[in-house]
Amino acid sequence: MIQLHDKRFKLFLQEEEIMAAVKKIAEEIAEDYREEVPIFVGVLNGAFMFVSDFLKFYPYPCEVSFVKLSSYRGLTSTGIVETLLDVPENIEGRSVIILEDIIDTGRTLQELVHLFTSTNVKEFKIASLFYKSEIYNGEYAIDYFGMEIPNNFIVGYGLDYKEQGRNLKNVYELHPDQMINLVLFGKPGAGKGTQANFLKEQYSLIHISTGDVFRYNIKNKTELGQLAQSYMDKGDLVPDEVTIKMLRDEVEKHPEANGFIFDGFPRTVAQAQALDNLMESKEMKINATIALDADEEVLLERLLNRGGKESGRPDDQDKDRIKNRFEEYNTKTAPLQAYYESQAKFHSINGVGAIEEITKRIKGVIESLRLVEQ
Ligand code: AMP
Repeated sequence: MIQLHDKRFKLFLQEEEIMAAVKKIAEEIAEDYREEVPIFVGVLNGAFMFVSDFLKFYPYPCEVSFVKLSSYRGLTSTGIVETLLDVPENIEGRSVIILEDIIDTGRTLQELVHLFTSTNVKEFKIASLFYKSEIYNGEYAIDYFGMEIPNNFIVGYGLDYKEQGRNLKNVYELHPDQMINLVLFGKPGAGKGTQANFLKEQYSLIHISTGDVFRYNIKNKTELGQLAQSYMDKGDLVPDEVTIKMLRDEVEKHPEANGFIFDGFPRTVAQAQALDNLMESKEMKINATIALDADEEVLLERLLNRGGKESGRPDDQDKDRIKNRFEEYNTKTAPLQAYYESQAKFHSINGVGAIEEITKRIKGVIESLRLVEQ
């Protein structure tokens, strides 16, 4: 187990396994290019170790050069890739083989292909030490790869987590029980509670539903319950000061937690800011906000159904109260989308379909958080 910045990583590949993969690629390429002098182009920074070891295994005459790209994840999902070190000169008519450390979604690769299409190379091939075939969605077929790996975030052997870990001889993967804090976002009836129940099992998280805490307090006739009841009965939001304090108390009950699922909180921008402050004061952070999206007609139907048959909640039984809850959501909670988008933490999920299907969609988002950018 190693620690880099705030995260712990566990051993994934030993040096010998990595070397075997490097050797395999070198032998395959040597077989194909022994008759000419190819130019190998390493992609900085991650590929430097791979390029170095690869060349030691490559037995025939060759040249080597590097390019450097820098990825930025802006507010749009497309992202921009900037060239920091351009294609080598005098590559016209030559066979160019790109050496990448890892290929995941293929966004960087697409940019590389683009960089080289304007050059008059004889042939252009891609070789990557690691290949996350599960999530690769580029058009370009990978020509050579050392090994396919699952979609986990890895470090070592040139790959970094926030610039650390490149010097490690082995490759490590993010330890599965990292703290992860999620906000489930969605109109009443969107299925936040249902999904939270699955996710808390899967990732060993503490589920905090402010609605449930209020209902518990109402049932037990506590001071907080009495305070909240009149608002809840009408379908109005309980005032921020009350809700924020209660949320803080709930978080503080679980200092050992692996992470939290916040369900029904925040519901206003003030609550979102309070949550960020609370997280910061505890050296924690919100990793993602996952919005379950569904039309109001579908939700109204679901709520009336659950109000009558399942939850027995008074605020689910009356159309006007439900409509007021939608209204509260649209005016006070919907602006949170922009709040979390500005932090690049907003993920929208189709909330209509079989429960397991929706769980799968949410898990997809959570897994993608672990890989960040490689
Ligand atoms: P829920 O179970 O999430 O649908 O919440 C039921 C009701 O509890 C809401 O309609 C509000 O009256 C109250 N409530 C729950 N969470 C909050 C919150 N974060 N801020 C204000 N009121 C809330």
